[in-house]
This record gives sequence, C-alpha cells and structure tokens, in this order.
Amino acid sequence: MIEKTDVVIIGAGPVGLFAIFELGLLNISCHVIDNLDKPGGQCAELYPEKPIYDIPSRVSISGQELTDDLLAQAKPFKPVYHLSQQVEKIEKLESGEWLIMTSVNKSIKAKCIVIAAGAGSFVPRKLPISDIAHLEEKNIL
Ligand SMILES: Cc1cc2nc3c(=O)[nH]c(=O)nc-3n(C[C@H](O)[C@H](O)[C@H](O)COP(=O)(O)OP(=O)(O)OC[C@H]3O[C@@H](n4cnc5c(N)ncnc54)[C@H](O)[C@@H]3O)c2cc1C
Repeated sequence: MIEKTDVVIIGAGPVGLFAIFELGLLNISCHVIDNLDKPGGQCAELYPEKPIYDIPSRVSISGQELTDDLLAQAKPFKPVYHLSQQVEKIEKLESGEWLIMTSVNKSIKAKCIVIAAGAGSFVPRKLPISDIAHLEEKNIL
C-alpha cells in the first residue's frame, strides 16, 4: 500500500522537526522518516544530556529538552513518523509527485521532499564477523 502526503521530511533531527512546524503553519501536512528509533537526530542520539547555549531565548537547554520542545511544537500539526527505516530510493513520477521508498519496503507518495539529513543516516557499526547476520535483532546470552 502506498501512503500519500503533501511533504515527506527525510530526517527527524532538529531541522526536520522544526520543518514540521513551519509547514504546519501553511496547512501543509507531512510524514517524517528517520533511520533512528526516536526523533531528535544528533541531539537525542549523541548528546541528550549536554547543555546547548546557542538556542535563541534559552539560556541553556539539553539536547533531549530541545528535542522534546520541538516535538511538542510540531504535535498540533499531526505529523506521521516512520522511524527505524532508511530512505533508500526516490523516484520522480510522471504526475510530478515523488515516490519515497524505505528499507522496510514502505512507499510514500508526496508532492515535495524536505531533505533534513544533517550529518547523514545513523546506522549501527557492525561487528566484523562473517555469517553473523542471522543474530541481528536478537539477544545473545
Ligand atoms: C557532540 C555534539 C555536540 C553538539 N553541540 C552543539 C551545540 O551546543 N550547539 C549547536 O548549535 N550545535 C551543536 N552540535 C551540532 C548539532 O547537533 C547539529 O548541527 C544538528 O543536530 C543538525 O541538525 P539536523 O536536523 O540538520 O541533522 P541531524 O541532527 O544530523 O539529524 C539528521 C537525521 O536524519 C536522519 N537521516 C539521514 N539520512 C537519512 C535517510 N536516508 N533515511 C532516514 N533517515 C536519515 C539521521 O538518522 C538523523 O536522525 C553538536 C553536535 C555534536 C555531535
């Protein structure tokens, strides 16, 4: 099944999250795709507790607080999040729309794409051991 939306935002870092708000003000709905299992990009993944001092109007705010505030600011516009999946393919359709396909075989049709991919897609660094793929997503005791 192909989902449809006005805009697909690639990346749920601070730029992608604020884009939801800005688009929402213009009555433009969006879906947001991120390879991480949670929104926030570098702020939530790499430094949730580190203080940030260069956000206007905030004397100090942590990476997670900034993420939580951006999520709250975006929430009224009802974004649809597609987490834990990487955008792998983008096709321009004859209709002029875009078809965005992800690593879990999700397809979304959109009129426009916002690329907010920041430092790139976060992917786990795998153990350099052959024949280990069958153990992925499993606990090893
Ligand atoms: C340790 C550290 C401290 C920092 N401290 C500060 C600070 O104090 N002040 C400051 O202003 N900046 C700071 N920065 C920089 C700041 O975090 C970045 O500038 C900011 O996160 C960029 O936001 P972004 O939304 O553009 O990208 P990112 O935060 O990089 O988010 C991009 C998101 O896109 C996703 N993505 C990318 N490609 C794909 C794809 N193909 N499919 C699916 N998902 C994809 C990624 O998984 C990621 O979640 C710091 C950075 C680090 C590492």
